[in-house]
Amino acid sequence: MSLRFNALAKLQTSSEADAQRATKITAIFAENVFTHAIARQFLSDEAYKSLMGSVKAGQKIDRSMAAQIANGIRAWAESKGVTHFTHWFQPLTGSTAEKHDSFFTLKSDGTSIEQFEGDALIQQEPDASSFPSGGLRATFEARGYTAWDPSSPAFIMDIGYGKTLCIPTIFVSYTGESLDYKAPLLKALESLNKAAVDVCNYFDRNVQRVTPTLGWEQEYFVIDESLFNARPDLVMCGRTVFGHTPAKGQQLEDHYFGSIPERVYAFMRDFEAESYKLGIPLRTRHNEVAPAQFECAPIFEEANLAVDHNTLLMDIMTRVAARHKLRVLLHEKPFAGINGSGKHNNWSLATDTGVNLLAPGKTPKTNLMFLAFFVNAIKAVHDYADLLRASIASASNDFRLGANEAPPAIISVFIGQYLSKVLDDVKERVGEKFDEQDESMLKIDIHRSIPELLLDNTDRNRTSPFAFTGNKFEFRAVGSSANCANAMTVLNTIMAETLKTFKKEVDDLIGKGEKKEIAILHVIKEYIISSEPILFEGNGYSEEWEKEAERRGLPNVKTTPLALDAMVTEKAKALFANNKVYTHAELEARHEIELEKYIKKVQIEGRLMADLATTYILPAAINYQNKLIENLRGLKDVGLAEGMCDQRTELVNRLSKHINEVSRLTVEMVEARKAANNIEGSRDKAIAYCSDVKEPFFDALRYHGDKLEQLVDDREWYLPKYRELLFLR
Ligand code: ADP
Ligand code: MG
Repeated sequence: MSLRFNALAKLQTSSEADAQRATKITAIFAENVFTHAIARQFLSDEAYKSLMGSVKAGQKIDRSMAAQIANGIRAWAESKGVTHFTHWFQPLTGSTAEKHDSFFTLKSDGTSIEQFEGDALIQQEPDASSFPSGGLRATFEARGYTAWDPSSPAFIMDIGYGKTLCIPTIFVSYTGESLDYKAPLLKALESLNKAAVDVCNYFDRNVQRVTPTLGWEQEYFVIDESLFNARPDLVMCGRTVFGHTPAKGQQLEDHYFGSIPERVYAFMRDFEAESYKLGIPLRTRHNEVAPAQFECAPIFEEANLAVDHNTLLMDIMTRVAARHKLRVLLHEKPFAGINGSGKHNNWSLATDTGVNLLAPGKTPKTNLMFLAFFVNAIKAVHDYADLLRASIASASNDFRLGANEAPPAIISVFIGQYLSKVLDDVKERVGEKFDEQDESMLKIDIHRSIPELLLDNTDRNRTSPFAFTGNKFEFRAVGSSANCANAMTVLNTIMAETLKTFKKEVDDLIGKGEKKEIAILHVIKEYIISSEPILFEGNGYSEEWEKEAERRGLPNVKTTPLALDAMVTEKAKALFANNKVYTHAELEARHEIELEKYIKKVQIEGRLMADLATTYILPAAINYQNKLIENLRGLKDVGLAEGMCDQRTELVNRLSKHINEVSRLTVEMVEARKAANNIEGSRDKAIAYCSDVKEPFFDALRYHGDKLEQLVDDREWYLPKYRELLFLR
């Protein structure tokens, strides 16, 4: 029996694994996290102060203090049955990495003890030669270091194997270049902090720290494990490269917000419980638009922690699914013809005085502050749209962007009618020179025209890649499998840069004798005018928008190899160097790594398509065709052929046509791949893989393969069909 029928026979729709019993969430929340409260219990006053100084103000922790903190963390971890620790980091492969060491060690005289030294907390040297470095580190100089990030608390992972203490770390090369997602993110957050505090201080001298906040919404598919295992494409690429759309897809929209299937529900409660223990503040769960698609979202957090929590969540979901004999698909487009998955990044800026800088205020003064940050954000997106596009570029996200279900590859900003009106007012009524008109604008009009609670008033536009939603922006084009750090690093860096320029321009005007508020209003006006082309309120999925965007000169780069060019322009290099986020060498390396990732992904998919075509699809089709031929021959033998079997003859012909096309395209694609492989230079090679392998062959090959699926006897078809993958669980 084929794997497909085995899987179908075994399939059971109830859950074997029991979901963890519901308790009050507060009773388990963060029980596996070294929280500030726990730190207070396990650390001396001195050590606690040092840790908090680092968490709150980025102060350095000295070695002797680190030793004390390490002891405290170990005491806590051992009280919970932990024997091993690991530096937990986020290399550029896109997943998380860990290498476990035991607390257990031998003294020089052979006595065994358990210890966790300060040095081991602060720094480790994993043998990390196989992680991508983009040429920053030759393999013979494989040393990479992980270094403790005190701003994200240590936690205990106890899923799947023994309990392990995880220390969140950054990953850098011997010479200090960053090799992960976290190190640049921390630098971007710091740059943003400085720039935003400076601008805040125009309005409020008490603000000392500004922290970007992030609330992600994770979409994913869940399917049965045995069916998954019977699909080599899902196993190898995380998406189906063949598969005809089922008679019923998502057209009825009956899955969206519908009741959650029992087995999936058990899985959800289970991974939520694990997440709560790790301090991930999940809040929302629901069905998504496509069958078998779901979403979860937490309460927003400080961006660095939110990024850690999202990568941790993806890991937990994958592990917990195995308990339920389910598989989570985080790929952006696992199934053709039905919606893919994204990860909306809700982003804002919070001050240490408790103000959300992207929420309208109660007074004219706070509203002017809101307007300043709001307009700076729009200007940042306008000036660096190409970089934002690059930050979300990946082989898998290419299948989703612009496919009429996700924001297009054109970056634009949606702000809704209220704020459009406010910006128009400022633009039209603020004079060339300071005058009374400006004063009235400041005192009354800005206040009156911005409703205090925009949240309930903002119109929603689901087709915009970057939408204002009342008190935050929502960056919607991020892919479901992506590490949000990439998008967050770019967004916060471009915001930092824009705010710095803003501050300089305002100061210049003040220097010329302009009143502060008026100076601010004038620069805001300039920004509104210069970033106008990025504002778009209409349907982002429409063809007219593509044309309109072209007229406006907005970039519309559809494929990853070209989108990535934005990373290494002179402008990008200057931006990242100014904000101390990436050196030129680091940027070049990252560009290289992204190109290589793209090449490998397309290469693997190409190989797999050829493999499935040759060993799954053609044999099934040919077998079936032989049966038909046998049947026709038999009919002829008994003299029944004439005029009675036109349809069957026609079927044999149709099978022949598609069989021929599948064979031809497979052979030609292999040739195209060989040619692409011989190209020197990652950029050209990636472009060749895109335009000579993927574009001419993937859809065409699939088309004929899927036609065969529709013709061949169901019992002879080896690959689980869409209707089974999507509707049985
Ligand atoms: P939806 O976009 O589906 O309407 P919500 O608007 O309720 O959902 O929120 C979506 C996400 O935005 C949630 O994860 C929430 O925590 C997050 N969010 C809310 N306020 C902020 C903020 N100030 N900064 C960052 N994220 C936020
Ligand atoms: Mg949303």
